[in-house]
Amino acid sequence: MASPIQRSTSQKRCLSSKTEVALLPTRRAIDYQAFETPYTLVFDLDDTLAHSKDDDGNFFDERPGLRDLLQLIHGKSENVIWTCGMRVYASRFVKGITYTVKQSVYPTFAHVLYRDRRWYSEENPVKPLRLLGRDYRHVLIVENNEAAVLAEDIPRAVIVPDYHGGPHDDGIPFLCELINGLYQSDGEDVESVLARSPLLRKSKKGYYYLRTI
Ligand SMILES: [Mg+2]
Repeated sequence: MASPIQRSTSQKRCLSSKTEVALLPTRRAIDYQAFETPYTLVFDLDDTLAHSKDDDGNFFDERPGLRDLLQLIHGKSENVIWTCGMRVYASRFVKGITYTVKQSVYPTFAHVLYRDRRWYSEENPVKPLRLLGRDYRHVLIVENNEAAVLAEDIPRAVIVPDYHGGPHDDGIPFLCELINGLYQSDGEDVESVLARSPLLRKSKKGYYYLRTI
């Protein structure tokens, strides 16, 4: 969960106005020795990683391959859940989907961002990556809803097909391959890695869609 914030100079530069508040603590405020790469991976929750069967987050289908994804990203990057869901719902949901990951002193997801007034509005529920206060070059967002991605963030966003439950879905295996390639790129800009990936196709509006069979 995001903790009280001390903004560094570089973090202030990422924010576009005095009224914006960084949603994550500074990199110095958390133990970055825990992560093997410089990347910050942002994942949407609903219909991206899992499909909730109720309004409370108690019952859900894990997207097939989710456990493999969690094992892949655990400790490798700073991982963030960013959901439009409310806090109680998001917390319950995240706890439910991460129980399978092996015990560690560090959680698989370093931060969980849920609906709050620092970023969310009913009229325009987008997730501006600049509010994370991270180096853009190393930020990737995975979403099922392109409307949640701000225009300036499109080059570092991957749109996955909606997951509506059930055992037949191959989105996550493709996503794992993509993220594995990112990890092996030796800190390259996310935008460059996405631009050359054969796992993605680009729409006319510039969004990268996961190329599932
Ligand atoms: Mg979603």
